[in-house]
Amino acid sequence: MTGIAVLGSTNMDLVAYVARAPGRGETVTGREFRTIPGGKGANQAVAAARAGAEVVMIGAVGDDAYGVTLRAGLEHSGVRTDLLRTAQGPSGTAHIVVDDEGGNAIVVIPGANATMTTLGPGETAAIAAADLLLLQLELPLPAVVEGAQAARAQGVRTILTPSPVQLLPDELLDCVGVLVPNEHEAAALTGVGDPRAAAAVLLRHVPEVVITLGARGCLYAGRGGEPVLFPAPEVTAVDTTGAGDTFVGTLAVALGEGRPVPEALAWASSAAALCVQRPGASTSMPYRGEIDAV
Ligand code: AMP
Repeated sequence: MTGIAVLGSTNMDLVAYVARAPGRGETVTGREFRTIPGGKGANQAVAAARAGAEVVMIGAVGDDAYGVTLRAGLEHSGVRTDLLRTAQGPSGTAHIVVDDEGGNAIVVIPGANATMTTLGPGETAAIAAADLLLLQLELPLPAVVEGAQAARAQGVRTILTPSPVQLLPDELLDCVGVLVPNEHEAAALTGVGDPRAAAAVLLRHVPEVVITLGARGCLYAGRGGEPVLFPAPEVTAVDTTGAGDTFVGTLAVALGEGRPVPEALAWASSAAALCVQRPGASTSMPYRGEIDAV
């Protein structure tokens, strides 16, 4: 079984479903409200565990009721939580508006995630023992860099989702094996709008890049050849929250199993397409059998 360590955020998603998201100063009446376990780190952990990996979650929840629910949710999907800290204060929350076209707008309040400024020996050891490390940017950057360096020191392949997008220091990029931005993040990181051109810029810093393109699929670029577009399956999206995290978590499992890149990307695209057809983030992530059945 592939061993995956996820160093990342855990949030409770507070989701409002509305016909149309409100503009500034505007109030709209929504249709439904749900609390759904989320956070980019936890979402990627759930996606990878459901896709068949042995996953350990490194991060922090708060000492509130959300923290208890978040930990239980991870365990329910088979994610190891013995290294998930319980910090004093509130858990992270994400305030999400989902509109009738399946689009979303999100405000994240880090809460306990902000307490993860440095790693302990147990956390570093778990990263060193993994086959792959998944990183995002919802924890304080020093901890992300520390995790990436611990992975590199042991030859553990690292996949970084640069979200929320920010300037990436060389000490982090030097440790990244696969960078997986969406097209907005790729443009923000490079100042280049065209995904192929953005990929070329990013390849100066990391050996492999996958730019996700929503319903259009994803663009893979490695240093050896031309970028390749992998189209997404044609489906009706009802909620795209968590699609990118499903894609990355599933991709990690396939790469960890040593599958060729085209096969791994097709598998991850199938998983993400299943995710967008259901409401919610972690709740909508598919299990291995469902992905294989596509
Ligand atoms: P995004 O973060 O929006 O770029 O989406 C990540 C991945 O999810 C994409 O690369 C697709 O594989 C998948 N995806 C997102 N939206 C859709 C959609 N409407 N239909 C099918 N797949 C999608």
